[in-house]
Amino acid sequence: MMSDQGSDHPKEECGLFGVYGVPDAAAHIQRGLFSLQHRGQEGAGIVTSDRKQIRSTKGLGLVNEVFANKTMSDLPGDIGIGHVRYSTTGSSKIQNVQPLVVECVDGIWAIGHNGNLVNARALRKMYQEAGAIFQTSTDSEVLVHILADPMYRARPQRVARALCELEGAFSFLIMTKDYIMAARDTNGFRPLSIGKMGDGYVFASETCALGQVGAEYVRDLEPGELVTISEAGLTSTVFREPRKPLAQCVFELVYFARPDSDVFGENVHDIRLKYGRRLAEEYPVEADIVVPVPDSGNSAALGFSQGSGIPLDYGFIRNHYIGRTFIMPEADQRADGVDLKLAVLPAVVKDKRVVVVDDSIVRGTTSKCRIKSLRRAGAAEVHVRISCPPSAYPCNYGIDFPTREELIAGTHDLETIKKFLDADSLGYLSLEGLLSPLKAPDDYCTACFTGKYPVDRSEAGDKKALENDTMELGFERHE
Ligand code: AMP
Repeated sequence: MMSDQGSDHPKEECGLFGVYGVPDAAAHIQRGLFSLQHRGQEGAGIVTSDRKQIRSTKGLGLVNEVFANKTMSDLPGDIGIGHVRYSTTGSSKIQNVQPLVVECVDGIWAIGHNGNLVNARALRKMYQEAGAIFQTSTDSEVLVHILADPMYRARPQRVARALCELEGAFSFLIMTKDYIMAARDTNGFRPLSIGKMGDGYVFASETCALGQVGAEYVRDLEPGELVTISEAGLTSTVFREPRKPLAQCVFELVYFARPDSDVFGENVHDIRLKYGRRLAEEYPVEADIVVPVPDSGNSAALGFSQGSGIPLDYGFIRNHYIGRTFIMPEADQRADGVDLKLAVLPAVVKDKRVVVVDDSIVRGTTSKCRIKSLRRAGAAEVHVRISCPPSAYPCNYGIDFPTREELIAGTHDLETIKKFLDADSLGYLSLEGLLSPLKAPDDYCTACFTGKYPVDRSEAGDKKALENDTMELGFERHE
């Protein structure tokens, strides 16, 4: 029934970390990127400036692999930005790893992007027709070309003007030899926070990374805000008024962000606990134990246990030396990763009526596999509870979801999904349950559950088409 074939749908999950006025910038950025590793495991890069020269290093792999043989002292300076990235199979190439570093007529610029631009293809075509040469197949590169465009270069509000040309989801860190800039799109899709460290400043996709370098959280960037930090200190401009209601990504709270982060003014662990409690109210069940799918289901399972009074127990043990199952580009790698990643504890589940709690079901393949292993270990019943509504629509704004056809809830009703999983019962959190614990429930994008896309979908295929365009050209460079 359901296939687990990979696809070239748009997916781009990323983490950003930057510092200004922090000695040994590179070492701090490396540390920050470690804490953001869950946001992207395919490539990482760091760019620094000692105010005379810009230096960079990047590579494919995990943060500790990419920087394993590099000494951070080779990247001197107190200004820098870093990036971790996950992308499509087709574009896991070194030239797509960020930060992108380019030389314009007025110096070197470095750019790190989290999100998906929905009008990148059109912009790229326009610049290519005018003679521009693109070096990557990322949507992010269009910003570089706009910045280098003499029309924008001449303008005093150059970066702000350039950002106004972009549609879709973006949190950006932009750096030159002397200053750093941070911007968040007008819908506020992706998070970006500012912290303070001594006399310097830190930017991070998630607050968990601020704590890890000893920085103190100051505030989130506002949607439509551009912050510049230079010798003159911190200045803030509104490059575009926020588009109300905002479209902050609710899936950051459901799954993507780390539980020890505060995202969009909410503590991630706390929200997931509430989702679990609510799920216990919406889908009560007679059972003996609640078992989390580690790590993504931990907080919600605890909430389910608190709400239902059913004791929590660890029926799965996770092998921590395997990365996020899902974040492996090849489908067969993903299928292999499952068994290696989670082992069942037969002593915990044998003859028990088990409630398994996870954050989401995407294709359904890993969930099916887990239920099978619980039954094999002797579980008497397996009840599945999911702490978000059915994921039925792809994301155009930066979360890796497959096409509607590949999303199990995109093409199948709950009864069919239950049968496919071989679950005794299945319950998904309601949309109301998802939004009601949030301080500003109207300010969230729920497109992956509802199909209501806050930014016009007319260019939704833009990124995929962009990659197809560049693949057709057969462009590949190895560094
Ligand atoms: P599946 O077997 O395809 O249903 O995968 C479900 C698992 O993937 C769940 O345990 C989720 O925690 C995880 N997951 C959901 N969305 C994503 C995503 N965008 N990136 C990586 N993993 C995800």
